[in-house]
Amino acid sequence: MRKIGDHAVVLGAGMAGLLAARVLSDAYGRVTILERDPLPGTAGDRRGVPQGRHAHLLVPGGTEILDQLFPGLLDELAAGGVPVVRDLAEFHFAPAGRPLNLRGRPAGPFICQASRPYLEGHVRTRVRAMPTVAIVDRCEVVGLSNDSTRDRVTGVRVVRAGGDAGELVDADLVIDATGRGSRTPNWLAAIGYDRPPEERLTIQMRYATRHLRRRPDALGGAKVIGIGAEPSRPTGLVMFAQEDHRWILTAMGYDGHHPPTDPQAFLAFIEAIAPPDVFAEIRDAEPLDGIVGHRFPANVRRRYDRMRRFPDGLLVIGDAACSTNPAYALGMSVAAVQAAVLRETLAGGDRDLARRFLRAAAKPAGVAWEFAVGGDLALPSVPGPRPLPGRVLNAYVARVQAAAEHDPVIAGRLLRVVSLQDPPTRLFRPSTAIPVLLRSLRRRPAAPVDAGAVDTPVIGPRA
Ligand SMILES: Cc1cc2nc3c(=O)[nH]c(=O)nc-3n(C[C@H](O)[C@H](O)[C@H](O)COP(=O)(O)OP(=O)(O)OC[C@H]3O[C@@H](n4cnc5c(N)ncnc54)[C@H](O)[C@@H]3O)c2cc1C
Repeated sequence: MRKIGDHAVVLGAGMAGLLAARVLSDAYGRVTILERDPLPGTAGDRRGVPQGRHAHLLVPGGTEILDQLFPGLLDELAAGGVPVVRDLAEFHFAPAGRPLNLRGRPAGPFICQASRPYLEGHVRTRVRAMPTVAIVDRCEVVGLSNDSTRDRVTGVRVVRAGGDAGELVDADLVIDATGRGSRTPNWLAAIGYDRPPEERLTIQMRYATRHLRRRPDALGGAKVIGIGAEPSRPTGLVMFAQEDHRWILTAMGYDGHHPPTDPQAFLAFIEAIAPPDVFAEIRDAEPLDGIVGHRFPANVRRRYDRMRRFPDGLLVIGDAACSTNPAYALGMSVAAVQAAVLRETLAGGDRDLARRFLRAAAKPAGVAWEFAVGGDLALPSVPGPRPLPGRVLNAYVARVQAAAEHDPVIAGRLLRVVSLQDPPTRLFRPSTAIPVLLRSLRRRPAAPVDAGAVDTPVIGPRA
């Protein structure tokens, strides 16, 4: 790719920041990542990514891009003991309570179940090895600097551990990847711009997680088990096999149904959700640590793509722009798709870069937003407006899910959409819509299948 600038600065060394830095290294002479946390040498929990202690699944749309950006990464993770679903028979997926019929669908590297710190640690090691990328940790970004016309961001103000307050770092391009707590709205206001319009759906979700030792033959060798929330029970759980022969078990609950962190109460919470064989495995497994909680108050989307005035030289990526209910397991994959979008945008040169990128990056974020907000609003306990188009859409998706229980072709198409490999519009093409609607005319959609056995787990709230 043609170089379009000398120096790009990435704020934050989380997943979005690392992936952005990898892409920027093709278009800028050098890239510097500024990270507030002290970074561990390899994998390790850290303060700036508290969600990293909870179940993180990388769905195929994200896996494919990571493997393109870092060739061989998936094999490297698998060689390190990370379970990777390569055969769809190992993957039991029932969005909205309906198990997909994936018989006869092609297998291949599919879902990566590394723990978040392990995955991030490996990606960070790859990025660190790039000769034109530097990662500076213990360096907090505290504001933007701009030129005299205020039309262009020219760098950032940072505070380094033990250093002077307000040191300037110059850059041709600044990309904010500081996550959900991003302060770019305030920083923009400080240099004379509006804040971005913000969309928010309050869900008051809480998560509680513990690791368990895993018997390799447990639960018929299943690698992923998920039981989603449903209108009559706004709670759920996911359990993935991970590196080091362990399960990660994350329980979740909407407002008023939060998972407890006391071990006995946590088990009772799990018992009320899990089928008997899954509960027995959890109850009898050796706990490897204590139970940690996490609050997720709201889906939040900052519409930088809709701002009338936006400075040159600044982009926003990942959770900093859009953070959705983790029950849908899409945040890291959206960051990966946005990194691919960044690569395409940079290939078009730096003219109007911010506007072109922010608009294009809003599309994958919008897909995750529609999945999350649509699914959350399917639960009566989540307050919020439910306009007619959304209800019609949910009704159609319920019919696609019903058809996917029986039709492997439709199941495969649905799986590609919820995994961010294909756009949702694929489900509205005549080749899918006609068989779906004919089937629903023949018989009304059956009630969602109860997650009563380990071979029919569910991920995400039921529609
Ligand atoms: C409980 C839970 C479970 C989840 N499960 C999944 C899942 O299964 N699958 C999935 O894809 N996603 C999941 N997610 C979402 C996922 O964690 C995020 O979408 C993803 O981490 C986004 O990455 P990011 O790089 O944008 O932000 P982050 O990972 O939050 O990284 C932001 C980085 O910026 C740094 N930083 C912040 N402020 C500053 C500053 N001022 N100066 C310098 N550095 C700064 C932070 O220290 C951090 O390193 C889950 C989230 C939660 C809460």
